[in-house]
Amino acid sequence: MTAKIIDGKEFAARVRAQVATHVTRLKDENGITPGLAVVLVGEDPASQVYVRSKGKMTVEVGMKSIEHKLDVDTPEVDLLALIDQLNNDPEIHGILVQLPLPKHLDEDLVINSIDPAKDVDGFHISNVGLLGTGQKSMVPCTPLGCLMMLRDHHGSISGMDAVVIGRSNIVGKPMAQLLLNDSATVTIAHSRTKDLAEVVRRADIVVAAVGRPEMVPGDWIKPGATVIDVGINRLDAPEKGEGKTKLVGDVHYESCAEVAGAITPVPGGVGPMTIACLLANTVTACCRANGLAEPQ
Ligand code: NDP
Repeated sequence: MTAKIIDGKEFAARVRAQVATHVTRLKDENGITPGLAVVLVGEDPASQVYVRSKGKMTVEVGMKSIEHKLDVDTPEVDLLALIDQLNNDPEIHGILVQLPLPKHLDEDLVINSIDPAKDVDGFHISNVGLLGTGQKSMVPCTPLGCLMMLRDHHGSISGMDAVVIGRSNIVGKPMAQLLLNDSATVTIAHSRTKDLAEVVRRADIVVAAVGRPEMVPGDWIKPGATVIDVGINRLDAPEKGEGKTKLVGDVHYESCAEVAGAITPVPGGVGPMTIACLLANTVTACCRANGLAEPQ
């Protein structure tokens, strides 16, 4: 069997086009431009790349993009003051603080100081609670992107066996919650899980969010299962030339693609969907703030 490749790049372009249409309507009919503020503390190279590409895509869909770049040793009180200012700015509908933060900053305190209505990453404790109780919330972008791809591929995932490998607050746990809210039967696996291979073999849906390059081999996959690879791991690639690198996921793509029914590639799978969902969340936040109909 050769798996269908779920093209996240193409799907994300469709989502961004829908966002752009909605933004145009908000401007034309309501005179409102959705605004997203991204806060970056320090100079982590990967974070800088993410922030740059978020800003570029925000502008491309017609929204206002504000970037705040703070020194690595910014005192917590200054960061909290900036968040307070953004919370009270009526032109800003979404606030994202790029993680990870430098060690001297309390990540939970910082995230929980964002107005939950502007928390487009969906990490605020209020949004976590709302999602956990099946209420309207801001949903974390990466798991939301994964769910959208699963719904698009399967129609309904109700009753399917899903295994999420990884239990982080930003990917694994919200992913499991979203699958549960869609009536899948969900198992969350992690570093202490016994016989992970057997657990994964039961799954109709496997979501790998581990951060270990190519950890899941094809012989763990049930024939026909859908594999969503969240992992982004950069490896040396001397075969491409001296000093070159390549990105790989948390699943071993070639062997899994031989067994799975569908699979997301890395790059070009979950990654592009994450930013598209961030933009969609910002439009949603803008509509809610103004009492307007939300995009579906
Ligand atoms: P974390 O490091 O926060 O969490 C990793 C999870 O994997 C933990 O729950 C850990 O278990 C579990 N784990 C580690 N080793 C094993 C193992 N041998 N067997 C089973 N489980 C294991 O990572 P994140 O959730 O933040 O990210 C996961 C991956 O997704 C990374 O590659 C990251 O780069 C990528 N990512 C991609 C995004 C995208 O846009 N595509 C966005 C965010 C992340 P335990 O809790 O027991 O330690």
